Amino acid sequence: IETKLPKVGTTIFTVMSQLALQHKAINLGQGFPDFEGPQALRDALTEHMNSGKNQYAMMTGIPRLREQIALKTEKLYGHKANIDTEITVTSGATEAIFAAIAATVRAGEEVIVLDPCYDCYEPAIDLAGARAVHVPLDPQTFAVDWDRVKAAITPKTRMLMVNSPHNPCGSVFSAADLDALAEITRNTRILILSDEVYEHIVFDGLPHQSVLRRPELAARSFVISSFGKTYHCTGWKVGYCIAPAALSVEFRKVHQYLTFCTFTPAQWALADIMESDPQHYLDLPKFYEDRRDNFRQLLAGSRFVLPKVGGAYFQLADYSAISDMDDLNFCEWLAREGGVAAIPLSAFYETPPASKLIRLCFAKSDATLQAAAERLCKI
Ligand code: PMP
Ligand code: GLN
Repeated sequence: IETKLPKVGTTIFTVMSQLALQHKAINLGQGFPDFEGPQALRDALTEHMNSGKNQYAMMTGIPRLREQIALKTEKLYGHKANIDTEITVTSGATEAIFAAIAATVRAGEEVIVLDPCYDCYEPAIDLAGARAVHVPLDPQTFAVDWDRVKAAITPKTRMLMVNSPHNPCGSVFSAADLDALAEITRNTRILILSDEVYEHIVFDGLPHQSVLRRPELAARSFVISSFGKTYHCTGWKVGYCIAPAALSVEFRKVHQYLTFCTFTPAQWALADIMESDPQHYLDLPKFYEDRRDNFRQLLAGSRFVLPKVGGAYFQLADYSAISDMDDLNFCEWLAREGGVAAIPLSAFYETPPASKLIRLCFAKSDATLQAAAERLCKI
């Protein structure tokens, strides 16, 4: 068969999770918590399934959930989103990313992505017949090199994809990044896809620099988030997209045929928890910051060098002092011989740099992190 996605194989997350199973390794590879979210959320899901919330939801998402999203967005970022015309509930952030690109990017156009970047971006761009233009982040700080982004813009550039807090690097935007983004896109037809799935996991007392804080940026952006990260339920696959009405009209044209709507009882349960426990996401930075600090401390006696983590739930680890292997071989070896599964950073690049980095997920219980760190300190 003539493949449309010749570069795509099985995702690195599936590959490494299978290796973890095969070698009984502790899985710090694929990013998901190994603990449960709020009991009230799971109780609410069961209740709604038992009380008739089992048929199609509205195409745009149930109004109660969109209202809660709007309230939160205004409270945190000062952006008023209209629930009828600007907020759409989706089946995970992944669906929203595909829908935003399919709805607005034409064949032959270019989309700038910042490497390393999440693995679903490029296939979504390829399927639209467009071309991903890869601009590397600063290899030391993993900050955006805005001069390089600017230099990559051509008359064909239709979209720029950004991600803060960043998967896999854990870097976060500053207010200056928003300034640069605004300056670069001003007076252009470039749309922004801002992947903010880790919006509630920003450390060290810093605010999340959502593009929604700047009306000028919000006016050209699809802002995409995911409840999976915030409520420790990655398997529910519920997310949302906030975009100005004109962009949301186009977005919904795709969403209504891609999935039409999203798992109804989960939408009710998420609306319940947002209403009854608005503190949950405010407590999340501290919750994950403790895990970050604990994990880094546990690894202090290892031979890994640990770059800073400003947000999200991934710790990069430099293994140059341990091995000369490339990162994929090192991860295979680590799962087999070291008993810990990780993700090789090269999986997130078009042209991987020479650095020797792996990604470890610290969205894990204390016991898991402790056991994994003991193994990592031995190698
Ligand atoms: N973007 C990033 C940066 C992610 O890390 C993830 C999840 N790993 C997604 C998008 C997809 O989120 P969802 O599971 O809600 O589709
Ligand atoms: N987003 C998760 C990660 O970065 C993986 C999700 C998936 O398996 N596709 O690890």
